[in-house]
Amino acid sequence: MNEAYTRPARTCAECGTLLDAARPADARVCLDCFDRYLRGLDADFLDSFGRLGARKQIIVAEACLKGLVLSDTADRKLLAISIYEQFIAAASNLLAVYDALIDRERQPIMRGILQFELDRARVIDFFARLTSDGPREMLDAAGLPHAEQVVALPGDLDARERKQVRAALIDALADLERLVAFEEVGERALVGAAQRLAAPMPVIEQTAWLEGRSIEPGQVAALALSAGGRRLEVNVLSTDEETLGNVVDGIEVMTRLVRNLIFSYVSLHPNGAPFDAWRRV
Ligand SMILES: [Zn+2]
Repeated sequence: MNEAYTRPARTCAECGTLLDAARPADARVCLDCFDRYLRGLDADFLDSFGRLGARKQIIVAEACLKGLVLSDTADRKLLAISIYEQFIAAASNLLAVYDALIDRERQPIMRGILQFELDRARVIDFFARLTSDGPREMLDAAGLPHAEQVVALPGDLDARERKQVRAALIDALADLERLVAFEEVGERALVGAAQRLAAPMPVIEQTAWLEGRSIEPGQVAALALSAGGRRLEVNVLSTDEETLGNVVDGIEVMTRLVRNLIFSYVSLHPNGAPFDAWRRV
């Protein structure tokens, strides 16, 4: 007999609706009640993540870049590939936070971020939005006003807070404009990375055994299986300090952008509300 028939019917601990029998056993409440609970946590979660976790990639990347100087060739390659991984992780954070903000009326921001998966379609959509709508429209879609509006907005912010939000919005706009300049390289790198992220990407010492030609001493190679699974892809990346310095700059831009998006959003939506109270004039 099906397990669902032998178990007593379970109801949501909050609202009493009958829980779907197929629901995992750890669900005490229905999805609506759980999402209401998550919405109550959205602002604190964003604030806490923006203060610490959102900085992770730039901290690791800068440590790797410093470490390069004192390392031998083999270790330099591993540090270099770690920097590229931080770039992908920083981009993933940015897209997760941005997508969750623009989707905030449909689902809690926490759910949007925690369920986010970097894939090709999301990367292309983000960059398409950046070029077609432009940075200012992107901020508006994320529930954020123009910097010059901040001083006159309704709400409880004091003069100092308004100044900080204004500065954060000015920086966010400038960083989105910087990303427009990255578009070609950023989109290509991320689309490629998004397809492979789910799988391991082993770093290999040499490619002569694979392709008949060796990589340069200043390069590092990582192996992946193509999307169709019938081709080996060798990703050869540079380990020279100038290139890696540019990658770290990119991570810095994305990190600052994520933190400024979060800071502005939380300041203007102190209870995490999906609607924009500041629009009420
Ligand atoms: Zn319920």
